[in-house]
Amino acid sequence: MSQFASSLREAARFIQDHDRFLVVNHVNPDGDATGSLLAMGWLLRQLSKQAVLVNEGMTPEKFMFLPGASEILNASEALPQKYDAVITCDCGDKSRVGRVEHWFAEGCELLNIDHHPTNDHFGTSNLIRTDAAATCEILYDLVCFMQLTVSPEMATCLYAGLLTDTGGFRYSNTTPHLMQAASALLSYGVQPGILAERLLETITAGHLKLLRKVLQTMEFSENNRVVSMAVTRCDMEEAGANDEDTEGLVNYGRNVEGVEVGVLYKEKNAGEVKVSMRSRSIIDVAAIAKSLDGGGHVRASGCTIKGGIEEARQIISDKLREAFQAAEESSYD
Ligand code: 5GP
Ligand code: MN
Repeated sequence: MSQFASSLREAARFIQDHDRFLVVNHVNPDGDATGSLLAMGWLLRQLSKQAVLVNEGMTPEKFMFLPGASEILNASEALPQKYDAVITCDCGDKSRVGRVEHWFAEGCELLNIDHHPTNDHFGTSNLIRTDAAATCEILYDLVCFMQLTVSPEMATCLYAGLLTDTGGFRYSNTTPHLMQAASALLSYGVQPGILAERLLETITAGHLKLLRKVLQTMEFSENNRVVSMAVTRCDMEEAGANDEDTEGLVNYGRNVEGVEVGVLYKEKNAGEVKVSMRSRSIIDVAAIAKSLDGGGHVRASGCTIKGGIEEARQIISDKLREAFQAAEESSYD
């Protein structure tokens, strides 16, 4: 039996062996994090299990139409007790759950379901497939393995993750297996036009106002192979934007013809800068993020750096210079 098949079996046993679950996804959740959290809720309820779904913060408004989203709690709500059985969705390491960790009972059993290559196997059980495009793709495998019924609600949540983590079935992680999963989900009642419209096409006024400011900060470096952009707290306030409005901004840099890496520096409270990186084909941005206590995928990663934007820029520029040098040296071999 393959490693993945045995971890599917272990995950199914984990679910069968417990009755009350805390299910959590990562801070600042994206479509895959939210879709997988919700799909796990539908899965557990189908088995007559109790499930509390939680994210550290508020679920982004754009995901609130997904079935079950209004039931997701946030970490500021007091829970009556701690949980002995925890399932994490789309979290590359334990710190990605943020303050929700306070709700984990000491010595709890934890099922870690994820697809990030930087995942450090922090669970007591781990269901990880790093060649999956989305955590929702792995959950679809689990649903098939457990021979569960796929309701239209569950299908919609799973499809949301497949759609968003492949950028609308466009990125190189769009495999035959992923398309087979998407195809099956369509047959279970997903409305693809509505999901694409709400999850990919619609932009907020805050996003557009922020985009106008951010484009003016574009800086080219490394012989025009890197484009970096910055967002300050002040920009956010002036644009009336929130965290979810920054999603996708980093792509404008990476998408410029000839550019290999796009970087977005986002000033946060408490003297920290959130860095998002996207690469086209050469640079492993997951390795750079991991070296700074972050993580992600080879072509899309993030980390948080203490200090201001200029300090973060210096640190990332040095890492990128080294990465380009290493790539050039290996191309001479
Ligand atoms: P984004 O730049 O959109 O926040 O994240 C890009 C990818 O990197 C996502 O897959 C996200 O989960 C991951 N990522 C972003 N920030 C962090 C971080 O601080 N730690 C880890 N482990 N992964 C991150
Ligand atoms: Mn994901």
